[in-house]
Amino acid sequence: MKPNYAYFEGKIVPYSEAKVGVLTHSFNYGTGAFGGVRGYWNEEEEQLFIFRANDHYTRLLQSGQLLLMEFDLGPEDLTNITIDLLKKEDHHQDVYVRPLIYKSDELIGVKLHDLNADISIVSLPFSKYVSNDTNAHVTISSWRRVDDNMIPARGKIVGAYVNTALVKTDAVRAGFDEALVLNVDGHLSEGSAENLFMVKGGKLVTPAVTDNILEGITRRTIMELASVEIGIKVVERSIDRTEIYLAEEVFMTGTAAQVTAITKIDHRKIGNGEMGPIASKLRELYDSAVRGKLEKYRHWNTPVY
Ligand code: PMP
Repeated sequence: MKPNYAYFEGKIVPYSEAKVGVLTHSFNYGTGAFGGVRGYWNEEEEQLFIFRANDHYTRLLQSGQLLLMEFDLGPEDLTNITIDLLKKEDHHQDVYVRPLIYKSDELIGVKLHDLNADISIVSLPFSKYVSNDTNAHVTISSWRRVDDNMIPARGKIVGAYVNTALVKTDAVRAGFDEALVLNVDGHLSEGSAENLFMVKGGKLVTPAVTDNILEGITRRTIMELASVEIGIKVVERSIDRTEIYLAEEVFMTGTAAQVTAITKIDHRKIGNGEMGPIASKLRELYDSAVRGKLEKYRHWNTPVY
């Protein structure tokens, strides 16, 4: 299914008109960055809520900063454009929003400087990303995560997603739902497109931002919900490969994957092999938060209508 409209070159146009030439810099060299934002439909309020729009657009513009891109538009402007786009699409269901910033010049030459950049945004109806989101079986990828001194993982940089694609396809072709990725130093970083958490000794542990992870907005949300609403201590530190095999619970978080419980890693059962109580509770809390059902966190929800 294709979108009906796109924000492209400064205005909302029919999706069929949102096209770039084959020489476009970002298309040739991966010099773009993207976001992944969700809108959640709240049936009682008949409202579509964009989740943490400001945080997503702040991160997108920071990825742009890494790539020497400057824009006149800030996070608030981009949120307002997204609202206009979602209204124009007249969505009344859960949606996924894909903003993209890209080096738009059509020329030959690998570099970042002295190039123009543009922004596009599209949206699509969307539900699940990982189908087994209560009992995923994952593997540890033989690919390693890109290092901060190669292509920074804290940016959502187009070219770096070849790394993700290699990880994901090998895992799926080998019969797994997803893969976890090790850093060059052998510690866990994250899933192919999700952050990683384990429950160990009554604490919630997640790799630190210095472990080549994308600083996930769902990760940030879950850390807050876990400590404030469940009262569990959250620790950011490096995680060894075999430590995770012996965790009480493991789960992944992401805008697309939401909270996906991992119940088996490389054919080893995690805990008793079923989704645990912490993952289960966090899934519930997260689903309520994204749909605007937790009064305390309503500042995360931007209404469209
Ligand atoms: N890591 C990677 C590599 C990702 O692509 C994503 C998806 N954006 C995440 C983690 C999760 O980030 P977020 O919660 O902000 O969607």
